[in-house]
Amino acid sequence: MRRKLVVGNWKMHGSPGRNRDLLEAIKPALQSLEGRVEIAVCPSFPHLADTRAILAGSRIGLGAQNLFSFGEGAMTGEVSASMLADAGVGLVIVGHSERRGRLGETDAQTADKFAAARKAGLVPILCVGETRPERDAGETAAVVLRQLDAVIDNQGIAALDKAVLAYEPVWAIGSGDPATPEQAQAVHALLRGRLKQRSGKIADEIRILYGGSVNAANAGELFAQPDIDGGLVGGASLQAREFIAICASAGS
Ligand code: PEP
Repeated sequence: MRRKLVVGNWKMHGSPGRNRDLLEAIKPALQSLEGRVEIAVCPSFPHLADTRAILAGSRIGLGAQNLFSFGEGAMTGEVSASMLADAGVGLVIVGHSERRGRLGETDAQTADKFAAARKAGLVPILCVGETRPERDAGETAAVVLRQLDAVIDNQGIAALDKAVLAYEPVWAIGSGDPATPEQAQAVHALLRGRLKQRSGKIADEIRILYGGSVNAANAGELFAQPDIDGGLVGGASLQAREFIAICASAGS
């Protein structure tokens, strides 16, 4: 039985004061869900230390939004996996569509970041998802399987053990237009099926999150799908009431 996981991706939002207000609001409210759903938040790098301090004593996990694939070295402006681990980070998002699409990160770079995260003991959250033109052209399956296979082919199926997958249709992110539960379930089942071809155990155990305009109103129906194991939540994770309600949906 897979325990549901809800991860808040704060993107490039927040300030020390706003983060504190948000965390102080969600921390007590989420306490009653502990044990039933796993929850984590991913602030931007400068806010990791403050967030870690505020979360101390709670079971809300600390995640990061990105990492670089090299270890320590001459790479100005980048942050390594071991630096994140030292900062108390447990999970890290890799291959988010904003990095693939707007910053040109390739499947190969994403696979390298995935490997670096694992090597440092972090749980990578591998994001896959198609754009609107790709969906309209009937290419959804080819795109998400290519993105998943880039990691499997590079590192072997065992690398997916204890990792997290996130299906995030690019057209649904930040648009207010989520995938329907049926659309999302179909892709989640496809991804799980691909994993099953290599390892039944990993396919059964891996959490596959849905992301893209998840909110308090739609979370319940999405999370009720058999292959949807929680959510990667952007905009709504910045609003305490919304995020609490989404986490409650996952824990019910
Ligand atoms: C995201 O960027 O990971 C995301 C899912 O954003 P939103 O919930 O705002 O669509």
